[in-house]
Amino acid sequence: MELLVISEVHDAELLDRVAEVISEIFGIKVRYSFVDTVVESVDYDISRGQYDAARVVERVRRGFVVKDLVLLVTDKDLYVDGLNFVFGYAPYPVGIISTHRLNPGFYGQPFDPSVFLKRVLTEAVHEVGHLVGLKHCRNPSCVMYFSNSILDTDRKGIYPCGRCVSMAREGVRRLSSSCL
Ligand SMILES: [Zn+2]
Ligand SMILES: [Zn+2]
Repeated sequence: MELLVISEVHDAELLDRVAEVISEIFGIKVRYSFVDTVVESVDYDISRGQYDAARVVERVRRGFVVKDLVLLVTDKDLYVDGLNFVFGYAPYPVGIISTHRLNPGFYGQPFDPSVFLKRVLTEAVHEVGHLVGLKHCRNPSCVMYFSNSILDTDRKGIYPCGRCVSMAREGVRRLSSSCL
């Protein structure tokens, strides 16, 4: 079981941490690579000024044979039908996170690398949690708690609660055995 992170945010320090934390929490191997663009102009909705996350994910899923799991990283603003915006979206086996609204600058605040890092880790772990089969958790400090706004993201930790950790490990085992 391997997770491939494909990022248009060219920040090796950030991606090293993402890879490290995901690998530690889920017990899976993580690789990452940088690309010029993850989202394309066809994914753009002019009236909203945002990119359709479902469309991006579907295109990537069709574009190449997904052997394991894929997490896309973009700095563009994302939405899915029915929601004003999303921090991420992850229908198995391809997920995506957007750093757009994780940047303190989006809220008119000065850039703070540690705040930004924690937010990116939180959203990355959350979406990978979905990829391995986790649903939203009612525990507000669990990473799988649904984030309605950046306040939820900032309040919850980057780690799943005990119950979600064991379900995630079970999910990884199930996926690994079906990959054989
Ligand atoms: Zn979620
Ligand atoms: Zn939980």
